[in-house]
Amino acid sequence: MAKPAIFVDRDGTLIEEVNFLSRVEDLIVFPFTPPSIKKLKERGFYVVVLTNQSGIARGKYTEADMHAIHDAIQAAVGGLIDAFYFCPHLPSDGCHCRKPNLGMIEAAQGDLEIDMTHSWMIGDKNLDVWIAENAGIKSAMVMTGYGPRHLGTLERKPDIIDDDFGNVVAQILLR
Ligand SMILES: [Mg+2]
Ligand SMILES: [Zn+2]
Repeated sequence: MAKPAIFVDRDGTLIEEVNFLSRVEDLIVFPFTPPSIKKLKERGFYVVVLTNQSGIARGKYTEADMHAIHDAIQAAVGGLIDAFYFCPHLPSDGCHCRKPNLGMIEAAQGDLEIDMTHSWMIGDKNLDVWIAENAGIKSAMVMTGYGPRHLGTLERKPDIIDDDFGNVVAQILLR
């Protein structure tokens, strides 16, 4: 049976924003991330991370470095994240996978049976709100990471704006 998904950005949303995070030693998982993911899973959502990682194309770190960070995040949340999708390209590459393009969501739809009508995208940047609009799903914006800077330049209105991923998840679970 299809289940709704919480698509969620990585940097600045689940973890502390670090410019071109490349080392597990610099990873800081927000304290509200593990319990919030647990609640989402208990309520029957898929939890799917969508992350633009142009640092790979820029040569700042390797795919292996990134996978080590994803393994550490997965360990911190008790293995409850269903899938990670990443775009390794530059903004100028014109690829289909870089948010706000739909490649990563389409890949998730190929791998998981997702009920899109009850799915959400949560993130800290304009492009996280934008990909939600492109996919026809609801969006929530957090005020961690780039949130405060992007709030002033929002071209699209998110369905929820709240302090952080923990508060957004609490709101979604009340609906
Ligand atoms: Mg982000
Ligand atoms: Zn890409």
